[in-house]
Amino acid sequence: MLSYNVAGLLRATPGTARSYPVHETGLEIAEDVQLVAPIDGEVRLFRTGRSILATAELATAIEEPCSRCLATVVAPIRVKVEEEALPSIDLDSGQRLDTSTEPEALRLDEHHELHLEEPVREAISLAEPIAMLCRPDCRGLCTICGADLNANPAHRHDDEAIDPRLAALAQWRAGEPLG
Ligand SMILES: [Zn+2]
Ligand SMILES: [Zn+2]
Repeated sequence: MLSYNVAGLLRATPGTARSYPVHETGLEIAEDVQLVAPIDGEVRLFRTGRSILATAELATAIEEPCSRCLATVVAPIRVKVEEEALPSIDLDSGQRLDTSTEPEALRLDEHHELHLEEPVREAISLAEPIAMLCRPDCRGLCTICGADLNANPAHRHDDEAIDPRLAALAQWRAGEPLG
């Protein structure tokens, strides 16, 4: 899991850093984003005067259909995450701290745990390519019959073979008798 107990680090002098290897396989990103590789990398936690600064460099891969030919494409993804997390509980007294002054800040939970799942999920979602291609020059699918034009570059339709009804219409327009 991408959660870290930082109670010890909070007691360390500012400037203290720790790093943790990441090998995460269970993180759900989104319904339409399928990871096909573990999230690998490193998380570094840094004690500042008032907080824990977390930075992470992570790599994974996602699977999506090519936007032209619908073939399955695997795309590598690299993300950098940087989050500052403030305590929500005073380490010595156990008292809840006033969090209303910085309501938007990421907070450590009541057990002094830092949760990076959400920031990592967000970073991976944003890194997802908008229109993925299986290759830059993908020819896509035939707009008439759906044939894969990468597999059949010579594929084409003779005009009259499109649809018999359209062919009849073309004849009628040309002033020829039907049938
Ligand atoms: Zn394609
Ligand atoms: Zn076709």
